[in-house]
Amino acid sequence: MHGRKGRPESIAILVEPHRGMRGRCSRCRRPAPGYDRLPERHWLFVPLWGIPTYFRYAPRRVQCSEHGVVIEHIPWSDGKRPVTRAMMAFLARWARRLSWRETARVFQTSWETVYRSVEWFVEWGLQHRQLRGVQSIGVDEIHWGHGLRAHNFLTVIYQIDAGCRRLLWVGKRRSQASLRRGLKALGPDVVKGLRFVCSDMWKPYLEVIAAQAGQALHVLDRFHITSHLNQAVDQVRRAESTRLRAKSKQAAQRLKHIRWSLLRRRSRVRGRARQKLNALLASKLATARAWDLKETFSYFWHYKSHIWAGAFLDYWCFRAMRSRLEPMKKVARMLRAHEPLLLNWFRAKGEISNGAVEGLNNKIRVVTRRSYGFRTYEAMEIALYHNLGRLPEPESTHRFC
Ligand SMILES: [Zn+2]
Repeated sequence: MHGRKGRPESIAILVEPHRGMRGRCSRCRRPAPGYDRLPERHWLFVPLWGIPTYFRYAPRRVQCSEHGVVIEHIPWSDGKRPVTRAMMAFLARWARRLSWRETARVFQTSWETVYRSVEWFVEWGLQHRQLRGVQSIGVDEIHWGHGLRAHNFLTVIYQIDAGCRRLLWVGKRRSQASLRRGLKALGPDVVKGLRFVCSDMWKPYLEVIAAQAGQALHVLDRFHITSHLNQAVDQVRRAESTRLRAKSKQAAQRLKHIRWSLLRRRSRVRGRARQKLNALLASKLATARAWDLKETFSYFWHYKSHIWAGAFLDYWCFRAMRSRLEPMKKVARMLRAHEPLLLNWFRAKGEISNGAVEGLNNKIRVVTRRSYGFRTYEAMEIALYHNLGRLPEPESTHRFC
């Protein structure tokens, strides 16, 4: 121990090789005769009693019959990293509960060390994960950072089987190339074994899925359709609000405050919001008509047969096209254009959970928004796999949490 005034600054643990045991080749792990000894190295170990702790050891080199003169196998070390495997696993596990910066502070190390530890943990997990048995995937785009440029989007691929929901892949942008890269990373066996693919109506994705996973039933996700409808109602409301403001301030104010009750589902709107909504529906406002169309569409999902659902869809689109509300007409055109994929929802009913993609998206937002202090895209990607990938974890010589 070293320190001043009786308070140790660090603990050094000196490690000596066992005299009766030969070193093992780091490449094949077979015992081999000794060659020479390298200078002493330090490895950061898990802090003991809150005091930074190091292993000190002079590694041997061995002469392997197959691999020549190589460094011996050191069980607590991984390559040239100056941190023990136990400490990397320790930091990585804590980095799921605390932010990376907090983890570094609590365990008296640097942000960089935490980052490298999580990176090692995730790399190991990705190399050792099993992708067999993936039957259903959800493909989605996630907005990230500020602005709406191409690099502000991520493409994500989730597994959404009932028994296992996890992040399988994440990559930059939301183009055809992004999704192709993702499917390639999963490998041809996984892509050929897919039974269901769930996505939004985003054209680049639709084309890639049709070309590469043609055997799978492609389903448009209910959650995406609902959010398109919500957005359309909001567009109608904003346009109308601007129009009214030009005419009368009071009427515009009334509409402004009703925004949140419009986004909620009919049954949950209570109290004053309910009164406002009733008044709105009785009025001849465009917003009321748009909201009514949106609410009516929710019946679509309750059909048991896709034939009746198809009939309902035709009727709904007919009404929407006559509504004189451009945002609603746009949704209607979009739904019509994707009718077969939309009706696949009824064929896949009971097989895939329709809340899975939405749930995983929300979790991604928690990770990207939590002030983790990600300095780069790479750090965020690692954090996403770390928190949502359900990756296997490396065995460690010492386990602390
Ligand atoms: Zn060897």
